[in-house]
Amino acid sequence: MNLELSEEQTAVRQLAKDFVDREIAPNVVAWDRAEEVDRSLVKKLAEVGFLGLTIDEEYGGSGGDHLAYCLVTEELGRGDSSVRGIVSVSLGLVTKTIQSYGTEEQKRRWLPALTSGDALGCFGLTEPGTGSDAGNLTTRAVRDGDDYVINGSKMFITNGTWADVVLLFARSTDAPGHKGVSAFLVPTDTPGLTRRTIHGKLGLRGQATAELFLEDVRVPASAMLGQEGKGFSIAMSALAKGRMSVAAGCVGIAQAALDAAVGYAGEREQFGKSIASYQLVQELISDIALDVDAARLLTWRVADLIDRGEDFATAASKAKLFASEAAVRCANNALQVFGGYGYIDEYPVGKLLRDARVMTLYEGTSQIQKLIIGRALTGVSAF
Ligand code: FAD
Repeated sequence: MNLELSEEQTAVRQLAKDFVDREIAPNVVAWDRAEEVDRSLVKKLAEVGFLGLTIDEEYGGSGGDHLAYCLVTEELGRGDSSVRGIVSVSLGLVTKTIQSYGTEEQKRRWLPALTSGDALGCFGLTEPGTGSDAGNLTTRAVRDGDDYVINGSKMFITNGTWADVVLLFARSTDAPGHKGVSAFLVPTDTPGLTRRTIHGKLGLRGQATAELFLEDVRVPASAMLGQEGKGFSIAMSALAKGRMSVAAGCVGIAQAALDAAVGYAGEREQFGKSIASYQLVQELISDIALDVDAARLLTWRVADLIDRGEDFATAASKAKLFASEAAVRCANNALQVFGGYGYIDEYPVGKLLRDARVMTLYEGTSQIQKLIIGRALTGVSAF
């Protein structure tokens, strides 16, 4: 793999850095305290092309490669993981999946709206009773003439209360396990669909995470994305790419922890000397730096495999597993460098730790990533 960035990749990374410094950094603490990112940011993200980065130009995207997507995601993760998640879910899990599996009619209807920020997407897989075991979901879609009528509920849905369309997974046949699951594109203003924002999250507090309730939600049969019964494999393929984006967001958290720790260590004095001069503080900082580099290289490797059209799923699980655990370690080590000041939200590292923690849980917990990697190595499923 060539680790030298192209001119376009360098330019898009700089664009993302400038965007974060201008639009995000000054507001991070306020958004976290208010439990809401300023919604006008969605349009601004679209204006700089971040909501259509890997989407074909004919649908309003900029046709960028996955390494460019990683670079932008890393920068957004450095700035605010709540914002990073808005983009990763709408672009990575929804828009990209519509481009891959949608009919021409579905692409024309949704892609220009999603890439321009006129619409936002959410990904409705998890249910109150099925998280890791998502293939056993119970939301039901019953065929009625030219329509499907959907009943059930979805839990922990990122962008849930803001989204205009949900990529929803529901059981549409009696085939056992995940084989009966199909994917649907459901506009969130469809009668019978209601949502409730989940408050009191440990991190990602600026993000609209919601519970969705579906009561006799009627959609035309043309709302089905991909073939009937293929919904679970569509979800898994979306999540495999999604894991690269979570990993890149974690690199951003780790980098922010490193920048903050180095900066603070250089300013703070104890026992008459800069704390940067103490070996035990340098150990904390060097541990963070090592995690940043390792996580970034594993993540770029996934982008390179995707861009070369090679199998990337196991590499994405490795990157997501390592980068998410590393982000937690890095934020925690940075907090240690800050001492008591790390524990209050005027300083950035406490939020980094709160935001990092969920990365080991969603899009497959760390345990689930280990099962995926173990299955690939041994050929035996331990699920
Ligand atoms: P469970 O599956 O109940 O797991 C509980 C524990 O058991 C974990 O430690 C897990 O690792 C362990 N475990 C489970 N099965 C096994 C096994 N076979 N072997 C070993 N250990 C096992 N979902 C969406 O569909 N869309 C979203 O946009 C979305 N956004 C989210 C945002 C946030 C902030 C959060 C918290 C969650 C989000 N999720 C979303 C849901 C997320 O993907 C799930 O929480 C996750 O998959 C874990 O499911 P669970 O919480 O039900 O935990």
